[in-house]
Amino acid sequence: MQQLEKLLNTVRAYQPSFDSEIVEKAYAYAKNMHEGQFRSSGEPYVTHPVAVAQILAEMKMDVTTIVTAILHDTVEDTDATLEDLEKNFGKSVSDLVNGVSKLTRIESQTLEGKQAENFRKLLLAMSEDIRVLLVKLSDRLHNMRTMGGIKNVDKRRRISLETLEIYAPLAERVGVHFIKEELEDLCFEQVNPEARESITNRLSYLRKEGIDVVDAIIEELTKILHDVGIQAEVTGREKTRYSIWKKMQRKNVAFEQLSDIMAFRIIVDKPEDCYLVLGTIHGKYHSVPGRFKDYISTPKPNGYKSIHTTIMGPRRQRIEVQIRTHQMHDEGELGVAAHWAYKGSNRPQERDVTKYRWLRELLEILEQEQKPEDFWEHTKLELFQDRVFVFTPQGDLIELPNGATPVDFAYAVHSAIGDRCVGAKINGRIAPLNSRLMNGDQVEVITAKTQNPSPTWERFVVTGKARSHIRKYVRNQQRDEFIILGKAMIQKVFRQEGYDFSEKAVTGTLKHYRLDEGDDVYANIGSGVFVARDVFKLIFPSHKAEIVKRPSEHMDQAVMVRSEDSGGPMPIKGLIPGMAMHFARCCHPLPGDRIVGIVTTGKGVTIHTIDCDTLETFADTPERWLDVSWGDNDDEASVQVGRLFMTMANETGALGNVSTVIGRNGGNITNLKITSRSLDFWEMTVDIFVQDTKHLNNVIAALRATPEIISVERARGR
Ligand code: MN
Repeated sequence: MQQLEKLLNTVRAYQPSFDSEIVEKAYAYAKNMHEGQFRSSGEPYVTHPVAVAQILAEMKMDVTTIVTAILHDTVEDTDATLEDLEKNFGKSVSDLVNGVSKLTRIESQTLEGKQAENFRKLLLAMSEDIRVLLVKLSDRLHNMRTMGGIKNVDKRRRISLETLEIYAPLAERVGVHFIKEELEDLCFEQVNPEARESITNRLSYLRKEGIDVVDAIIEELTKILHDVGIQAEVTGREKTRYSIWKKMQRKNVAFEQLSDIMAFRIIVDKPEDCYLVLGTIHGKYHSVPGRFKDYISTPKPNGYKSIHTTIMGPRRQRIEVQIRTHQMHDEGELGVAAHWAYKGSNRPQERDVTKYRWLRELLEILEQEQKPEDFWEHTKLELFQDRVFVFTPQGDLIELPNGATPVDFAYAVHSAIGDRCVGAKINGRIAPLNSRLMNGDQVEVITAKTQNPSPTWERFVVTGKARSHIRKYVRNQQRDEFIILGKAMIQKVFRQEGYDFSEKAVTGTLKHYRLDEGDDVYANIGSGVFVARDVFKLIFPSHKAEIVKRPSEHMDQAVMVRSEDSGGPMPIKGLIPGMAMHFARCCHPLPGDRIVGIVTTGKGVTIHTIDCDTLETFADTPERWLDVSWGDNDDEASVQVGRLFMTMANETGALGNVSTVIGRNGGNITNLKITSRSLDFWEMTVDIFVQDTKHLNNVIAALRATPEIISVERARGR
């Protein structure tokens, strides 16, 4: 209860008229839910969320955030539900708690190096609302402060490393400096206690030597500035042990050489005063070369602004000095939270204070919206919102653009995996290849050696890598077909103009087209990039075509196509002369059937009936379909093979009757195959010479009238 009173008082100090009832209600709710749960230290669990709320109250956060902090572990660790929270505390609170819970769930992953950078991005991408991230950072800070309660040394070390890798940089990224510093020091204690102690000892030695004279230096600097008429607040402190340690490592300095341990801040009202202060102290003391940095004219990427310099100070001691305005200081310490604090008080507000894109937008909202809640409602973190971060089965993080699919993921992992992918599991469940991946998904790609990229993938992939691989594959595959087609087309022009075709003549054009081989020319003709007649003209520039024939003329000419089943040649329209062609054996097209030509790599064109089952195989390659039709047949003696599939009763003399019926109707059996023979029925395919579809239909009608025939039909795609 004392803890709650302190919290209420802290909030009251910056927001006197706030509704304390909702905070008390949240406290009662969390206490009840966490009843019987305890921290490693032995304290009741509810002390933790209240302490987290206290950290946020010290950052002057809004009441919704305070309530969220108190409830932040209820959904993940107790029976409380989001619906319950929404009913009791409203949608904002339940959304925020949901956000924090999501971060808690993915937090168990430990990652290093590049992976850690991606993980930080993932956290940012998932924290749509900046308040989610601030609660999470405060949660981590309190857990680190109370880490002594965890007995297992390895566990303490693991959590500390993770905090150093992920959360301290994240705190810096959103500009909450005090959390970053405290996290680093707490981690340092766990990760490298020897180094921390050595630095502690060196610091106390320097102090004993009288070199630690922070107060005296503050006094002297204040006086100097006062003498030239500048109102300034001077503070000084020892640098943090972790920052000293990092600098020693970076500069390879030994403990004995350690002298640069004090940092001073000079805080003024106006930006122009910063430069006045700089000029004054550089005039009074020697500055150390190479240590001056102006982050006011060139702020750090996170928006940090300050002037840094190092001087040989009043006691001939190297000291670092940071010069900034009050507002720059608050932003540096509190980051995004500072803007809220500024709105709450009457301190002057500058328009161009921030380099955060989202904050700039927010400041505009802030001017229109009166209630602080509205301010935070609109605070959407826009960092990495256009990215999505997903895990491999090994726990590696892959960064993809928003809207990425398992195919994009597969190509991002390895192009060979992309080329061979047939399916995907998302979070353990089979999912379509065009599914949209979500942050934190775990994706597993299923591959098959025989799979090739499908042109349809190009419709849904979003990464350039996936797209270029799919295109490259499709191009290669189409090329073979275009070569056949293109070659036939140029051959036709040669013939029309009365020349014998020669490959050599075509290779003579390579230099002109800047191509490498004859096939390149054919592929360009076949795909429609070159016009066959233009290529011909290039080969025979002086040839004058007497009659310029329409390019589509060949489509009107019937081409005689011979059946492989020893039927006579049949005229077909719509084909290109010179291409290999034959009738399909699966459906045995007959004159009168509606037909289609399929371009088959290496085989030319195959003629199928339009209802043949085999056509399904070519359903997604429409470019291979040719419109064809039957030409007029002058040769009445010409016959074709029709194939029937029939079921016949197994009776004496049945087969004899069937062949008699066929013969009587002008058909001639050329082949007969029994495919299944049971005690009662025979199933068989029968090939019959007929003139056309009409003829075959007459045969079928006669067979259906035969008592022994159970069923009979044209064979399709068998
Ligand atoms: Mn917690």
